[in-house]
Amino acid sequence: MPQSPDSPPERIARIALDTPLDRLFDYLARDATEADIGRRVEVPFGPRHRIGVLLELAEGSDLPPASLKPLGAIDRHTPPLPTDLLALARFVADYYHHPVGAVLATLLPPALRRASAARRPEATPAYRLTEAGQAQAASLPARATARIALMERLGRGIVHRADLPDREKALVRDWLRRGWVAAVAPAAQMAGAGRVVAGPELTGEQARALDALGSAPPGFAAWLLHGVTGSGKTEVYLRLVADVLARERQALVLVPEIHLTPQLMERFVRRFPGYKLIGLHSGLADGERRAAWLDALEGRADIVLGTRLAVFTPLPRLGLIVVDEEHDGAYKQMEGMRYSARDVAVWRGRQRDVPVVLGSATPALESWRNARAGRYRLLSLTRRANEKAALPAVRLVDSRTDRPRQGFTAALLAGLGERLERGEQSLVFINRRGYAPTMLCNGCGHVFPCPRCSAHLVLHRNKAGYRLVCHHCGLTARPPEACPECGGLDLRAAGQGTQRVEETLAERFPEARILRVDRDTTSRKGSFAVMRDQVEAREVDILVGTQIVAKGHDFPHLTLVGVIGADHALISPDFRATERLFAQLMQVAGRAGRAERAGEVLIQTAYPRHPLYQCLARHDYPGFAEAALKERRGADAPPYVSQALLRAEAGSEEAVMAFLQAARQEGLDLGKGVTLFDPVSALMARVANRHRAQLLAQCGARARLQDFLAPWVALLRELPGAGVRWSLDVDPVDY
Ligand code: ADP
Ligand code: ZN
Repeated sequence: MPQSPDSPPERIARIALDTPLDRLFDYLARDATEADIGRRVEVPFGPRHRIGVLLELAEGSDLPPASLKPLGAIDRHTPPLPTDLLALARFVADYYHHPVGAVLATLLPPALRRASAARRPEATPAYRLTEAGQAQAASLPARATARIALMERLGRGIVHRADLPDREKALVRDWLRRGWVAAVAPAAQMAGAGRVVAGPELTGEQARALDALGSAPPGFAAWLLHGVTGSGKTEVYLRLVADVLARERQALVLVPEIHLTPQLMERFVRRFPGYKLIGLHSGLADGERRAAWLDALEGRADIVLGTRLAVFTPLPRLGLIVVDEEHDGAYKQMEGMRYSARDVAVWRGRQRDVPVVLGSATPALESWRNARAGRYRLLSLTRRANEKAALPAVRLVDSRTDRPRQGFTAALLAGLGERLERGEQSLVFINRRGYAPTMLCNGCGHVFPCPRCSAHLVLHRNKAGYRLVCHHCGLTARPPEACPECGGLDLRAAGQGTQRVEETLAERFPEARILRVDRDTTSRKGSFAVMRDQVEAREVDILVGTQIVAKGHDFPHLTLVGVIGADHALISPDFRATERLFAQLMQVAGRAGRAERAGEVLIQTAYPRHPLYQCLARHDYPGFAEAALKERRGADAPPYVSQALLRAEAGSEEAVMAFLQAARQEGLDLGKGVTLFDPVSALMARVANRHRAQLLAQCGARARLQDFLAPWVALLRELPGAGVRWSLDVDPVDY
C-alpha cells in the first residue's frame, strides 16, 4: 500500500534471526509495540518463514521502504524474553563474537525455535502416589531398589514427569494403569508452599563458610568454595538455597553432567518438599524442555537444576547461582557457540546483582587465581563432613619395579583380591575406552592409522569379534588377517583399554562380578542410572570405568581405587593436560572410603616422584595449583594471558593455510598490540579427510584482546576462502 505523504512513516521492527550474519533484520512493524520486545515472531526470510526474536523498534531503516516485508505472527501467548536475558544474550554475542540471533537460538528450547510452536503449551504433567500405591510400596521385594526408590520419591510429594528418566517414565505409565499413581491437575502443582526439611548439624567449617556468605552485603559477589571431596559442599548449597527460597527468590544450580542431575535432584527434592524443582538438560524431550523452561520463565519454578545450557534459563526472581564442580570441562561448549557456562554464570550474577558460588575440590586454575587476586572470595572446607570418613590413603605403585602384567601390578592385584575377600567394592580407573589403544604388528611394528584422520584406530571387541574403530570419524573396520606392510600374522593388541582390563580381571577373578562403565556402555539413555543402582545394591564387586565414574557419585562400599595408565597425560603436548589429570585423579580418589571404612588409592606410575603425584598423595590441591600457576606464568600461558583461537578446516591443507595466513596478515595490519602466532596444524590435523589448522591470538589484557577481535572478525567475514570453514574460540581450553 503506497503511503500518503503526510502519514507518519511506518515503524520498523528489528529481528534477531539464527543466521551466520551478524546483524538484525528489518521488517515493517505492523501493530508491534514496545510490549512485544523479546517476543518470538514469525517472519518471511527468503523462500521460507522463520522464527526470530523482536529486539528493537525503530523509526526508520537504512533499507529502502519498498524492500521491507511486514512481520508475520507475533507469539503473544508466551511471555517475552525478559530484558535481562536479552542483555545477557547481547553481551555473550559480543564477547564470543557470535551473531546475537544465533545466541538467542541456542538459548531457546528447540520446541520454541520452530515456526509451528506458537501454540499455548500444556502444563507439565505431574504425579502423586495413591492409597493403593502406598499399600503397594510396603510389599515390594527388597531387591526392587529402583522401584522402591521411585515409590519413596512419590511418597514424599508430587513428582514431575520432566524429572523422570525414561526408565521411570515407563514404570509410572504402568502404575497409572494399575491405579498406584494418579496424575495431578496443573492447579494443584502450584498450590501449597514448600517446606524445608532440617539438614544435619553443620560442621565447623561449613558453619564458617555459611557465616561468611551470610554476613556479606547483599548483591553480587563471586565465591569460590574449595572443599575436598565429601567435605559437604552440597550441604552448603542446600543451606544457601533454603535462604533464597525463604526470600521467595529462585535458585539456579548448575552441574557439569546430565548423569549427575538425578542424584542431586533427589537431595534437593528430599530437602525442599513442595517446592517446584525443575531439571533442565539436553536429555529432555522437546516438550518437557519447553514446559520446564516456561515454568522458569513464568516464575513457577523455585529451583532450576541443570547442565551448562541452563545458565540461560529465564528466571524473573533469581536470587542465587551455584556452579558445582566448576572446573569441569563440560561447562565449555565446544561447538557452535563456544561459551563457558561458568564464566556466563559469573557475568549473569553481576548483571542481576546476585551472589555466585563456584564449588570444586580442584578449582580451575583460572578460578584459583581469581581467588588469589581477590576477585573471588575463597571459602575452604579441608576435611570430610563425615568424621568417620577420612580422606583415602594414596599410594604410588612404582611400575618400574613392580612391572605390570596385562596392565596390572602385583600390588594392585593384591589389593583387589583383599577387597573381594572382605566383600568390599573396588574401582579400576582407566581413561581409555575400547579394548586397546592400538593394534600392532609384532613383526614390523606397524600400527593401523585411520585412512581419513591423523589418528590410530582403536581396537574394540564385541560379540562379533574384534573391530578397529576411529574415535574421531567413527570409521569401523574388521582387523586384517595379516599385516599390510610385512605380511606378518602376529598382530597384537597394544596397551590397555577398559574392555581389555575387564577381560583380564574376569580371568584373574572368575568369581568377581565386574561392571564396565564407559561411553560405550552408557550411551543408552537411563543406562547410567541402572548401573549406579547396581553398584549401590552391591551387585557389583569391581567397577571398571573411565572418567564417567569419577564424578560426584557416592558409593559407600567402595574402598579401593586403582589407577592405570595415568602417566600418558604427563607427556601430553596440551599444557592443560596435567591440570585435568590432577582434577580427575582427585575426583576418582574421592570415590574411595566415603563411609566408615577407610579408602585406599593405588596409582600405577613410572614417575612416583613427579610433583603432581606427590601433591596428590598429600591431597594438596593448593600446592599443586601454586606450582602449576608458576609454570603457566613462566610460559606466558593462561590465566596470565587471554587467548582466542581461530580454527579453520578445508579439503586441502593449502586452502586452510592460505586462509589463516591471510587472516594473520589482516590482524597484523590492524596493529592492536595482540600477538598473532603462525598458523599451525591442529593436534588432530586431519579428521574425516578435512584438514584442520589454527591460529592463536594472545594478549596480556582481556579487554585489549576484545578490542582487537571485533574488527578482526569483521575482516575475516570478508576474506575469500573457498571451501574454508572457520570459527573463533574465545578462551579456548583445547587446542
Ligand atoms: P561434597 O559435595 O563436598 O562432595 P557432600 O555435601 O555430598 O560433599 O557431603 C558428603 C557426605 O557427607 C554426604 O553423605 C553428606 O550427607 C554428608 N554430610 C554433609 N554435611 C554433613 C554434616 N554437616 N554432618 C554430617 N554429614 C554431612
Ligand atoms: Zn577417522
